[in-house]
Amino acid sequence: MIKNIYIAKHHGFCMGVKRAIDIAEKTARKEKGRVTILKEIVHNEAIVEKFKKEGVGQAKSVEDVSDGTLIISAHGISPEITKAATEKGLKIVDATCPLVEKIYKIIKEVVAKGYYVIHYGDHHHDETHGILGYAPDRITVAKNKEELLALPDWNDRKLGLTIQTTAHIDEIPEIERVVQEKWPHIEIFNTICMATTRRQSAIIEIAPKVDIILVVGSSTSANSRRLASIANSKCGNGILIGSVDDIDDNWFSEEKLIENVGVSAGASTPDFLVEEVIKKLLAISNYKAKVIHPENKKK
Ligand code: SF4
Repeated sequence: MIKNIYIAKHHGFCMGVKRAIDIAEKTARKEKGRVTILKEIVHNEAIVEKFKKEGVGQAKSVEDVSDGTLIISAHGISPEITKAATEKGLKIVDATCPLVEKIYKIIKEVVAKGYYVIHYGDHHHDETHGILGYAPDRITVAKNKEELLALPDWNDRKLGLTIQTTAHIDEIPEIERVVQEKWPHIEIFNTICMATTRRQSAIIEIAPKVDIILVVGSSTSANSRRLASIANSKCGNGILIGSVDDIDDNWFSEEKLIENVGVSAGASTPDFLVEEVIKKLLAISNYKAKVIHPENKKK
């Protein structure tokens, strides 16, 4: 029987996601013509659906947009795509997170000084596609230690390392050690964002107190998947759920002896999805469980 429900101190919407949704909502209200979001404004189905219902268009590529206003998602975009959209006469509203823009700035600055950049991140993430566009001939992406070790010696190159904003915080000391051993002259820019650090640390904090951690977030969200993987490695039972509907009552059956449940949510998960999960857990406990909220307000 569930006795305690521990809510992670930092969970749910981050600054960049709130900002992007706010920009998209204001733009949809203000613009008279067609408004289209390029790719997903943030990686969460509930938010994507909300904009669709409100009549905001969604496009996978600039080629699919003929006119009106184009909103750039929180994950950012390559300058080449911005140029193509401008040439088509589209009005661009940029909701790229300032912390992703910080990586663009670092890349522009170091490349101007003659550096090559290794970006530690997922090859297929929208954020990576945008970053690559800032110096396509001078950036190499590596998603793990093995890919880093397989890169050439490059002792004749000035090198910089940037890191995906949502990377796993625990992996970074080892990644830094590997790159420094291979390229002692490399300059490291730890570009993991504070929201990621806080959400991952909050999972690590509650993990020893609980038998299971439910991470509410979309399977398309890199940071939500990462939180679930951390939850799994730290408490042995971390599950990513898109919404309350994914909860299986059997997880909490008598013989499973689950007494303490942790709840967290990815940076693109709206609060109402988390609240529905807490309500369901309370119902499973016959309203006997205590909900233990973090002392500080989440950010
Ligand atoms: S997770 Fe970090 S980088 Fe991504 S949108 Fe949120 S604040 Fe920005």
